Parts: sequence; structure tokens; C-alpha cells
Amino acid sequence: MYIMSAGPTSISQKVRTAMLKDFTNTDLDQDYIKFQRGTEKKLSRLLHTEAKSFLMLGEAMLGLDGAVASFVEANDRVLVLSNGIFGAGFADFVKMYRGIPVVFASDMRHGLDLAGLKSFLEADHDFKAATLIHCETPTGIANDIRAICQLLHSYGILSIVDSVSGMGGEFIDFDEFNIDCLIGGTQKCISSLTGLTTITLSQRAIDCLSSRKSLVSAFYGNFQNYLKTDEFAFPYTQSETLVYALDAALDEMLEVDLVKRHQSYAQKTRYALTKVGLELYAQDHQANTVTTVLLPAAITADEILHKMQAEGFIISAGMGHLNGKAIRIGHMGNNIADEGIYRQMLQALNKVLLAAGVPLRADLLQEFINCPA
Ligand SMILES: *Cc1c(COP(=O)(O)O)cnc(C)c1O
Repeated sequence: MYIMSAGPTSISQKVRTAMLKDFTNTDLDQDYIKFQRGTEKKLSRLLHTEAKSFLMLGEAMLGLDGAVASFVEANDRVLVLSNGIFGAGFADFVKMYRGIPVVFASDMRHGLDLAGLKSFLEADHDFKAATLIHCETPTGIANDIRAICQLLHSYGILSIVDSVSGMGGEFIDFDEFNIDCLIGGTQKCISSLTGLTTITLSQRAIDCLSSRKSLVSAFYGNFQNYLKTDEFAFPYTQSETLVYALDAALDEMLEVDLVKRHQSYAQKTRYALTKVGLELYAQDHQANTVTTVLLPAAITADEILHKMQAEGFIISAGMGHLNGKAIRIGHMGNNIADEGIYRQMLQALNKVLLAAGVPLRADLLQEFINCPA
């Protein structure tokens, strides 16, 4: 079965092999400590920065939870930028940690409305932090985090960016974009195992953590613990297996122009889907890493997904309001390491769509090949 879903993504042989290294004591083995610090530096390198990155043992949701817990104090106003499910979801975290979420909602089929945000902020900019999503994985929209974070920074608002499905597939210059806290996950573009969340912090974010007036209301998710360098190098025992895998995955990523590869697959995929007569959900700001395709009303996504699995490919379903109504192709990470397999997936999708009664105006794979560079 080939994984072509929008995360978890497929895992390369090199990454699998890396997991077979000897086990160690992650707190006491000095060579291991150096190794993990090196992995963290590679993460920063992926974001073109020397800013501090660290790993937390837990799925990416831990990073989102920990970020809000760590930065938000009771009665802090937090601007929640939302043009999708993940964006809106941050309001729940903010409430949970007793902050005051103020939601700036923007149309889900478009990139976050920058002009609207500009006028909104002119009238009201008294926020400690703002949360935003780089790539809204359910809709396939990549927000312009460069312009948004620079704008937030001009008002002194700390930016908390979920780039779980963007990092690696979309270009990021952490410092130039003025990002303060970027959260990643290992199971999307990075194409390693699920189980680690990656955090990168600006100096402003670090200062904010150390100048909190109240205690952080999370124990395991508290970022402050990762900035201490007292007795142990890590606050809690690490999973060396997951870190070995991540390190190998990062090596593979840093070897190639990954953003360009993602851009090319995304462009060709969108071209082909449109040419055969299907409708893309995202009307602009389409992501490099995932494409969400609407299905004709009579067709259910489940049917397509099951038939695709019978053909040997796992693709994703629509989420939230698109549940049952859309499918998603994850042209993400190691899913696009082999164009031959990707082409087979398109061929299978063409067959499955036709069998389900979706009228197609042309051949999906042929149009993928025909896409002008
Ligand atoms: C995948 C993802 C996460 C992590 O959520 P899981 O579904 O639990 O893997 C967080 N944010 C975004 C934008 C994601 O795509």
C-alpha cells in the first residue's frame, strides 16, 4: 500500500534503517546529547535560521497545546486568525488557558484576508499574541505567513504559527518572516514517524517565556522546561528511535530543493485535476503540500477512498464541512520522492473516478504530464 495522504506520509528506506541504531540512555550518553542537538540545528536550518529549535516527545497537537499554555496568561487577549478548522481550533486552546480569544475569521476558500487584517489591526491591536496556520491541511490553503507575521510584528504581537503541514514543503525564512514560535510535526512533509513535535522560538518568544508573571498551567507542555540547562540536557527522557528517524529524514530533505519539488507536483496536480473537469476547493493560495478536490454531489468520498485502497493507494478524505464531499491528495514529503509511483496513483484515481460515475473530460495522468513547466 502506498501512502499518498495528507499526513502521516510515507517513510523512506533510509529513515527506516536509521531507526535500527543501538539504544542508549538519552540523559547520560554525551554523544547522544550532541547528536540530538545536531538534529535540532538541522531543523533550524530547514527554516533558514539559527534560532533555537527543540523537540518534544508527543504528536504535533502537543506543540500547539504547549505553545498556547506557555505564552498565554489569564486575561491575555489573543488574536485567533482563522480560515479553516485548525485556525478556528486555536480559540479552544486559548480559552482553556484562560486567555481571551478574539477571532478574525476569513473565507475558507481563500488565503487569509491580509487587507482585512490590516484594517482590523489599525482599529484594534492590543493583543499579546496571535495564532495562525501556515497550511490549512483540510482545505489545501497556504496562508502568506511572511506578510502576516511581519504585520503582527509591526504591532509587537507575538506570532504562534502552526506549520505542521507547511514546514519543508513551503519556503520559510524564520527571521525574515518575523515568526516568533513555529510548531512542526514529524509525520507530514518531514516524512518521519509520528511522535515528535518541533518547536522553533525567536529571542522575543524566549524573553516572553522568561518574563511571565504567572506559572504556566501545563506541566508536560511547558516550553520553559526546554530552555533550562541545569541537571539534564532534556527535561524528560527522549525517544532516540524517533530522533534517529527524524535526523535521517532531515538529511534527506536538506539534500534537495524540497520546496521546488513540492511546488512542481502541486502545480501539475492542480493543472491535471482542473483539466479533467474537477473543482479545487482552494480558489487562491493553493498549498504546495496538499490539494483538496470537490466531488460531484452524487459521489461519496468514502467510496473513492475505499476503491483507491483496493488499487493500493491511501489518499485522504475531506474534513469538517468537506467530510464526504471532497478527497485530498497529499503531494507531501516522501509521497513525492518517486514520480513513477505518483503517476500510478493518478492512473488509479482516474480509473476509480470513472468507475464511480464521475465524468472526466480528459485523462488525469496525461494532463499531469502535459502541464507546462
Ligand atoms: C496534522 C496537523 C496537525 C496535527 O494534528 P493530527 O491530525 O493529530 O496529526 C496540526 N496542525 C495541522 C495544520 C495539521 O495538518
